[in-house]
Amino acid sequence: MSTDYHPMWQELGLDLDAHDALLGVLGPLYEKTFLTQPNRPQGMDYFNFVMSEVHGLRVKELLDHKEKGGFVTGTFCTFVPEELVLAAGGICVGLCAGAEWSTPEVDALLPRTTCALIKGAFGFASARVCPYLAASDLVVGENTCDGKKKAWESFHRFVKELHVMDMPQVKNSTGHALLREQYGILLKKLEDVGGRKVTPEALEGAISTVNAKRRALARLTVLRQANPAPISGLDALLVQQVSFYDDPVRFTASVEALCDELEERVRQGKGVHEGRRPRLLMSGCPMAVPNWKLPHIVEQAGAIIVGEESCIGTRGLRNEVRQGSGGLDAQLEALTERYFAIDCAIFSPNPERQEHVVDMSATQQADGVIHFSLPFCTPYQSEALRMEPALEAGGLPVLRIDTDYSPEDAGQLSTRVEAFLERLEA
Ligand code: SF4
Ligand code: SF4
Repeated sequence: MSTDYHPMWQELGLDLDAHDALLGVLGPLYEKTFLTQPNRPQGMDYFNFVMSEVHGLRVKELLDHKEKGGFVTGTFCTFVPEELVLAAGGICVGLCAGAEWSTPEVDALLPRTTCALIKGAFGFASARVCPYLAASDLVVGENTCDGKKKAWESFHRFVKELHVMDMPQVKNSTGHALLREQYGILLKKLEDVGGRKVTPEALEGAISTVNAKRRALARLTVLRQANPAPISGLDALLVQQVSFYDDPVRFTASVEALCDELEERVRQGKGVHEGRRPRLLMSGCPMAVPNWKLPHIVEQAGAIIVGEESCIGTRGLRNEVRQGSGGLDAQLEALTERYFAIDCAIFSPNPERQEHVVDMSATQQADGVIHFSLPFCTPYQSEALRMEPALEAGGLPVLRIDTDYSPEDAGQLSTRVEAFLERLEA
């Protein structure tokens, strides 16, 4: 970071020593994981810059937006429509924490059997090291899994205002109606916080902006179908992670520019690596920044990741919202249709997800699947237990991995991944 942002962080109420310690770990981790990769596309320079300023310039942009009468909404789930936040004059930022941060306060609030994603979010909040949370005027939680549902009961102590959305658990007409109702309630809440009514024109513009972002990311996914793949899985994951923080219009333009470059690589038959590598699909729990442990191990072992079936991947980012649907009611219905199609493991039953993994493995030309679950994540761990034998029976090899953010099991994971790659080669 070229500017000293300590005064800004102090004003936001961050614990400066703890925050400096966090940045002191994140910077070297980023360099080691990303900047040592060979043959990176030039288009990744933009994302390097975003990451170098993720707690600096981007946070300043949020505060500038608030100065001008806007507001910031923090979210934890892809079921929160960014379109509604933008239409109400807000900026939407992801708050999921992909790193461990334990405090005695968190240990007293959460059971030991809580997933690392929830624990990380609590830890960052309790330790006052997240400028995005500190800048958020409204935080939206959602009743998805049991862990999150109960976590919101104590999370309000860390935020200015917490709005909890109820979530359907079954894909039927009752579930659809519940989500539609919840989006209407969220719209009103955002209007209260933003101090203005959302018009159909504003919502249509926001839908168009977010659709364009999804289209650019879908283009990136399609380019990764090429064999050899033109970009590493780590870089593609990073792009998708940045989509939860960056300005959506600028982000879309940067992804399109990256895709132009990758298209040229594909046209020339050039891959990011020389020679053939096993191609893998990652499937499972979301990987929030800076959770790069498993993809780094997989690609260090000599494979290439060609797709992410995850909320920070195609599960969360595919499918556009129908445009030109008319007034607010019809637009809310169009939003509901799009978001209700997300095949998150909180739904029961959830056969669409397994079908999606099979389809995606075929289109991305994957040789196998790595299923990633965070320990204590019952929804994804349960689905993995059934998915593994079903995919194997269909001829698609699967490696099921449960791991959190700790580096302690890195050696053991490398051994398992290497053995899986040997199996694929055989
Ligand atoms: S996995 Fe489910 S609960 Fe988690 S972010 Fe995705 S949609 Fe939300
Ligand atoms: S769905 Fe799984 S990973 Fe997501 S918050 Fe719940 S337990 Fe954690």
